[in-house]
Amino acid sequence: MRIFGKVRHRPSASWRQATDRAFTLIGDGRYDDAGALLTRAADMEPWLSESWFNLALLHKFRHDWEQARAAGLRAVALLDRESGAPDWWNVGIAATALQDWPLARRAWQAYGLRVPGEGSPSGEPVGMDLGSAAVRLSPEGEAEVVWGRRLDPARIEVLSIPLPSSGRRWGEVVLHDGVPNGERITAAGPSYPVFDEIELWAPSPVPTWVVLLEAATEADRDALERLAADAGFAAEDWSSSVRLLCRTCSESRMPSDEGDGEHLDPHDHSEPGHPGPLGHRTAGSGSLWLPERECGIAAPAALVRGLLDGWVADSPDSREWRDLEEVC
Ligand SMILES: [Zn+2]
Repeated sequence: MRIFGKVRHRPSASWRQATDRAFTLIGDGRYDDAGALLTRAADMEPWLSESWFNLALLHKFRHDWEQARAAGLRAVALLDRESGAPDWWNVGIAATALQDWPLARRAWQAYGLRVPGEGSPSGEPVGMDLGSAAVRLSPEGEAEVVWGRRLDPARIEVLSIPLPSSGRRWGEVVLHDGVPNGERITAAGPSYPVFDEIELWAPSPVPTWVVLLEAATEADRDALERLAADAGFAAEDWSSSVRLLCRTCSESRMPSDEGDGEHLDPHDHSEPGHPGPLGHRTAGSGSLWLPERECGIAAPAALVRGLLDGWVADSPDSREWRDLEEVC
């Protein structure tokens, strides 16, 4: 067929068959068998960008980044569109996983994004100013949606304090997929994408603690969160910031509160089923203030007790803490 004077070759029926079968196998987690089929498809139609795009996708699913980069580069070399190609986005993800910063920059630019300046000395793209987003940690396991700051199109720094069950930490940097899987809308208007984590990109050295607070008022609770933030770490009142959502709701458009711009609540922890017509409990909404709060703190061991004691010392009549425990 001809499109704008360009000859476009249609892939053969056997290419389609092998490719369709491969994606069924991928759905069943049978990556090796799928890989054999997609390799055969690429042998059949090596000039077809999709052949290499599909292989790059498979290698992404397997977190085999060297191979994902190699196949992705073959895919983009055969592209006939100027920008906006998902092929380039996947090259960007693979390059970011490998810390191949020159290629990551090239990929984002080729996709059509503006990458300011030369970045850091390593060439790492910085200053892209993509704002906040949510990321679903461990999407295949005990999933938890947390908030964070986008470092670049493929990485988010986690700014919520993940629950102990997640085994994850505040301050981690997560490599995530390009297509959002869910959305959080705020009353103020802005909406934020929810991305699925692909893998942990950089661990965090800061441990997570759980503590029981007696905080007479919300302002007392806020004071602890502020003290922790001022020290360069974080405290988060899990009693109000966490809600349970079923998978379907978590992956849809859900209302969310906008916090101080850096810290958006609530984050979502997965639960098995949708709880009937009334829907999910909205964290802390419309209920009376309960002084006892279960609070997460992300801070070094040398600092956490001093932080809590300082918080109490500022208003001993309205504040208390107990049962501090390191959980992650
Ligand atoms: Zn639900």
